[in-house]
Amino acid sequence: MIFAILSDIHSNLEALEATLSDVPAGATLLHLGDVVGYGAQPNDVIERLGDTRGVMGNHDAAALGILDPEYFNDNARLAIEWTRGTLMRTQVTYLASQPFCRDIVDDPAFPFTLAHGSPKDPELFSYITRSDHALEAFDHFGTQVVFVGHSHHPESYEFRSARRSIARETHGLNNGRDVLSLKEGSRYVINVGSVGQPRDGIALACYLLFDTTLRTVTWRRVAYDIATTQQKIWAAGLPERNADRLASGY
Ligand code: ZN
Repeated sequence: MIFAILSDIHSNLEALEATLSDVPAGATLLHLGDVVGYGAQPNDVIERLGDTRGVMGNHDAAALGILDPEYFNDNARLAIEWTRGTLMRTQVTYLASQPFCRDIVDDPAFPFTLAHGSPKDPELFSYITRSDHALEAFDHFGTQVVFVGHSHHPESYEFRSARRSIARETHGLNNGRDVLSLKEGSRYVINVGSVGQPRDGIALACYLLFDTTLRTVTWRRVAYDIATTQQKIWAAGLPERNADRLASGY
């Protein structure tokens, strides 16, 4: 089976539409949370996702009132407060139905896990940005692979159990040719990157395709109409930084 895994869409409809156009026919769509926040189209983005299965991100939780907005910097917090006042009832219901962590068992031969941040206490949304964070995470999920978002940095951490060592690799730099082949004796924390607000200096939407038969993970980068997204953010009166950063990819 082929899964298209998207994370951190952040109310960016243009980035989501471009990404969905890039997803091959027949792939099963999944998301890793932070569907909303920062951007101007939370309702449209959720409508476009339909009944896609995913997990809850920290921005989603804050928009629902589950997480204290004080957790966030000013630009993020102002967007969360705006989002809270903008979300429609159906969209609230969808966000609230997303668990903090879930296993996907569609291919019984290769079950895997989804979480927004670390699967260790997933409702606390801890970042995995270092090997020691990843090492800790491996004790908190039962499958071979957990896919995460949150940091917006596409990367992988391979845990080689025989040596209890971690190999970290950056991804997303080589569009469509950036392929990670999963090894039988290893376990993985895999960050899919961000659709709606990339932060690795590449101003392209980022997502990945996971082929459970070939056991490969392929990062994809997709161009989208950044100027239109920026205009919508400005028109909504959201912080200018939320629009500006899309052009630089930071
Ligand atoms: Zn995010």
